[in-house]
Amino acid sequence: MSPSAVTSDGHAAIGTNGLKKGHSESKNTPLTWTTFSNVIDGKLETTKETRCGINPATEQNNPSVPVASKEDVDRAMIAAQKAFKPWAAVPYAERQKAVLEFADALEAEKEPFSKFLTQEQGKPIQFARMEIDTAVAWMRATASLELPVEKTDAGDKEIVVRYTPLGVAVGLVPWNFPILLAAGKLAAAVVTGNPIIIKPSPFTPGGGLKLVELAQRYFPPGVVQVLSGDDNLGIWLTAHPTPAKISFTGSTATGKKVMESASKTLKRVTLELGGKDPAIICDDVKIDDVAAKIATFAFLNSGQICLAVKRILVHEKIIDEFRNALVKHTKLLKLGEGNKEGVFLGPIQNSMQFERVKGFFADIEKEGMNVAVGGKNPGGKGYFITPTIIDRPAEDSRLVIEEPFGPIVPLLSFANDEEAITKANNTFYGLGASVWSGDVDRANRIAQQIEAGTVWVNTHFEMDPSIPFGGHKQSGIGNEQGMAGLKSYCNSQTLYLRKSNL
Ligand code: NAD
Repeated sequence: MSPSAVTSDGHAAIGTNGLKKGHSESKNTPLTWTTFSNVIDGKLETTKETRCGINPATEQNNPSVPVASKEDVDRAMIAAQKAFKPWAAVPYAERQKAVLEFADALEAEKEPFSKFLTQEQGKPIQFARMEIDTAVAWMRATASLELPVEKTDAGDKEIVVRYTPLGVAVGLVPWNFPILLAAGKLAAAVVTGNPIIIKPSPFTPGGGLKLVELAQRYFPPGVVQVLSGDDNLGIWLTAHPTPAKISFTGSTATGKKVMESASKTLKRVTLELGGKDPAIICDDVKIDDVAAKIATFAFLNSGQICLAVKRILVHEKIIDEFRNALVKHTKLLKLGEGNKEGVFLGPIQNSMQFERVKGFFADIEKEGMNVAVGGKNPGGKGYFITPTIIDRPAEDSRLVIEEPFGPIVPLLSFANDEEAITKANNTFYGLGASVWSGDVDRANRIAQQIEAGTVWVNTHFEMDPSIPFGGHKQSGIGNEQGMAGLKSYCNSQTLYLRKSNL
C-alpha cells in the first residue's frame, strides 16, 4: 500500500516523508526540560495527580511527572489500536526512514538528554553520553535490517514465509538504562509495523517521557506513546486485553508476574531479566591487565547492569596475586556525583535499591566475610556505595547466589577447568559470562560449555546491536536486537500460493 492509500484511511495524512506526525513542534525546536508529559494519541498530556523522582546523588526532587490513570491506559490503547493498521500499511522503507530520522534527532539532542540522565539516573556524565550514543546506534542498526520473505518453489505452489506485525506492543523499561532500553524497544516495534506504548520506570520517568515527546515529530499519532505512573501502571498495561506483545526488561521476579498476566490473552512476551554473570579467570592470564578490566566490568554503572560481572572465578594458583591486582584497580575507581571530574561510580539509583544493596553489606559482619576492598559506606547525602570485593565467601551465601545489583562482588576460586564450568553454571540465571585465558583454544572450549545467552572470550559486555541478545534459564525468554529481535514483534505467516488455476 502506498502512503497516499494510508492517507485515505483518515489516520495518517501525507507529511514530509509521507506521514502526518503527532505533537506538531518543528523538528528543529529544542525540547524543554521543565515540564514532562504523557503522550497519548500524539498529544502531550498531564494528569491530576503528579509525582517526583529523586536525584540519587543529592536526594533532591526531580521535576514532577504525570501519574497515569486506568482511563489514560484505555485511551492510549484505543489510540494505538487505531494507529495499528495504517502504520502497518506504511511501506517498510518509509518506516525505516522514520526511525533513522528519529535516531538523528536523538543524536542532535544528545547533550540535554545526557545531562538529564545524570540528574535522574545518577550515572556519571561520560557514561550518560555513552548511553545516548548506544541508543542511537541501536536504533540505526535496527532500522537497517530487512525482514526476510522466504520463498520455496514446490511444483504448482509457491510457499512463502513472511513476517507480519503483531499489533499493539507495550515496552516496560527498568531504571538502569532508561533511554537505551526504551529506544531499542521502540525502534524494533515501529519498524516492523507495530505501535508501542512505553512505560518508563517510576524511578527514571523523565528521560523516557522526553524520548517519546521527541518521537512525535517522526511518527503519526498513536504509533509511539508513553505513560508515566505508579506501581499500578505496569499491572494495568500487561493485564489489558488490547496489546499483542509485551517487551519487558527488569528483574526475574517481576518478569514472572508479567508472564502470568500476559498469559490471560496469550500475549507474546520478550523477557530480558536478571543475571549473575561469572568471569572465569584462568591461570595463564596477564594478571594486572585482566584485573583492571574485571574491576571495570564489575563496577560500571555501580554494578547496576544485567550483564555486569557478578561472580569473579579465579584459578586457585593465581587467586592471591589476582586479588591484590583487583584491589589496586578497584581503589582507583572514584565514587561521587556524576558531574564531578573523574567519577567512575555514581550513586545507587534509588532508595529501595540502596537499602537492598546495604542488606548485602550487613551480611559481611553477620557471616564473618573477608573484605578484600571496600566494605564501609560513606554515609551522608546520596545513595553512595563503595565498590567492594569479598574474598571467597561461602559458596551458598546470598552474595554468591543472588543478584545484588550494586557494587559488591564475590571472588571465588576453582582448581581446574571442569570445576570452573560447574561453578559458573551453578545458578538459575543464564544471561552472560566471560572466559579469560592466554590460550584462546582453551578459553573457546570453556566458553562453549557455559549455560548463558552471551559468552565472551577475553572481554565482557561487548554488544553489537545487529546480533541477538537474550537470556537462558531464568534470565529471560526470547531476544532483543538483531533479526531475532525484529521477528519477536511479528507473526510468522506461511502462504501456500497457487501458480495456476485448478
Ligand atoms: P523491575 O522488575 O522492578 O521493574 C522493571 C519495570 O517493570 C519497571 O518499569 C517497573 O515499574 C515495571 N513493573 C514493576 N512491577 C510490575 C508488574 N507487576 N507488572 C508489570 N510491570 C511492572 O526492575 P528494575 O529494578 O527496574 O531493574 C533492575 C533489574 O532489571 C535487574 O534484575 C536487572 O538485571 C534487570 N535488567 C535486565 C536486563 C536484560 O536485558 N536482561 C537489562 C537491564 C536490567
